[in-house]
Amino acid sequence: MIRVTIWNEFYHEKTEENVKALYPNGLHATIKEQLEKIAADEYEIRLADIDMPEHGLTDDVLNNTDVLIWWGHCRHGLVDDAIAAKVVDHVHRGMGFIALHSSHLSKPFVKLMGTPCTLRWRCIDEHARMWKVDRTHPITRGLPDSFELEAEEMYGEPFLIPKPDDLLWVTWYAGGEICRSACTYERGFGKVFYFQPGHETCPSYYNPYVIQIIKNAIDWANPGQDRIPLCCDSQPPFEKIEK
Ligand code: ZN
Repeated sequence: MIRVTIWNEFYHEKTEENVKALYPNGLHATIKEQLEKIAADEYEIRLADIDMPEHGLTDDVLNNTDVLIWWGHCRHGLVDDAIAAKVVDHVHRGMGFIALHSSHLSKPFVKLMGTPCTLRWRCIDEHARMWKVDRTHPITRGLPDSFELEAEEMYGEPFLIPKPDDLLWVTWYAGGEICRSACTYERGFGKVFYFQPGHETCPSYYNPYVIQIIKNAIDWANPGQDRIPLCCDSQPPFEKIEK
């Protein structure tokens, strides 16, 4: 079983009726339910949110998480710096990290990228089409050449992320912009995936293709081993060195 923790700032679902109607138990709970429909016996999924003690990310939780999924939007600044730093440290030692939608500005993702991660945006729930631009990566396996999102928030270039290790999808929006909407990175010993869909007023986490991509990303980012210690020690030589 891959141990997955889905973290959510869990705010709009409590404060806005239309979001509550769409994601009544929080969008993290919806992602869990949708994943369990297609892979119930593959994952042990835990939910965590910002209002839990230590934001639900205690040492015990992080030590027992293979892949951490993150959704944040308007409460990035309320995330404790020490906890964000701990998440980054776990990624460096091997934990997988999936940043969804507005988590492009979350503290862990920005720290992992080292760039501003800013982008152009427009929120009028417009039609979007995601185009697969990599046919060999395991995250794109089984997905069609393109698929539609009936309504999404537009995220457009310039998206100030580092050049991705692999660019998997580009999204076109009805308003004319495009976005590098699915990107992979290795950071230390950990694998990181950024995935754009998931504005809180849009039903993207009920889209079977979106859930399949998140599933594939979990499988790809799963380290399959314990955390790897970071080594920065002086070492004796293996061979005898003649001088
Ligand atoms: Zn949004």
